[in-house]
Amino acid sequence: MAKAFAIKVLAAFGVFAALWFGVPPWSWLAAGLILLAALGLIAWGVFDVNSSLWARTLHRAPGHSAVALTFDDGPDPDYTPKVLEILAREQVPATFFVVGCRAEAHPELVRAMDRQGHLVANHSYTHAWNINFSLHSTLKREITRCSEAIEAAIGKRPRFYRAPHGFKNPALGDVLEQLGLACVGWQVRGFDAVSSSANAIARRLVLKARPGGVLLLHDGAGLQGTQDRSATLEALPMIIDGLRSRGFAFKRLDELFPSAAPQMNA
Ligand SMILES: [Zn+2]
Repeated sequence: MAKAFAIKVLAAFGVFAALWFGVPPWSWLAAGLILLAALGLIAWGVFDVNSSLWARTLHRAPGHSAVALTFDDGPDPDYTPKVLEILAREQVPATFFVVGCRAEAHPELVRAMDRQGHLVANHSYTHAWNINFSLHSTLKREITRCSEAIEAAIGKRPRFYRAPHGFKNPALGDVLEQLGLACVGWQVRGFDAVSSSANAIARRLVLKARPGGVLLLHDGAGLQGTQDRSATLEALPMIIDGLRSRGFAFKRLDELFPSAAPQMNA
């Protein structure tokens, strides 16, 4: 929150100085531009998925030749078992950002992820879009409840958090630091929550992936996206083949960012 406060104070000071020392109409123009710049900076911090303005956000690990496959919005009784089956067959480790209420409803699927060597991470408890605009207490409750659901299923606290829709607010950095979680965005996404074309999903990920990149797909359906994940299932073997033929190996997020998660303070 300290950065948000500093931006507001600097903007207020700039507007005051422009109006006090400037000559109309230039003073009004300068004050307007300062306000616009401040609003633009705040919006960039909220809406740019990889902006580290409000919370340090990981999306690519420099110096790594591998990539990390990540799956959001599960566990889903229809699709998660099929994703797990493909990953097991291909011997690819991945990271699953689970939604807490879904993890509570299907703890056996969270256990299956863990048992098969995948990393389980936090994607909030309800995945409601408006939690990204909540202040400390609501945000902390959402994130804590998801971590508790994961811990109840597998006995491990998650270390990584991805905000629903990738939005962040000034309180998020403080909350994640208190809870000992690192924020994750993505280097490239397959748009599989909105696209029904397996070819388009696979082509996009395979062509745009960069060394050390975090790649986003979805194993859960229906959370402000389409209900049908069959395009993801069809795309996944093509994605794995395509990335392998580009020379990429696959790692979990904790292997790509071994020292990322901050120490827990509360
Ligand atoms: Zn999501």
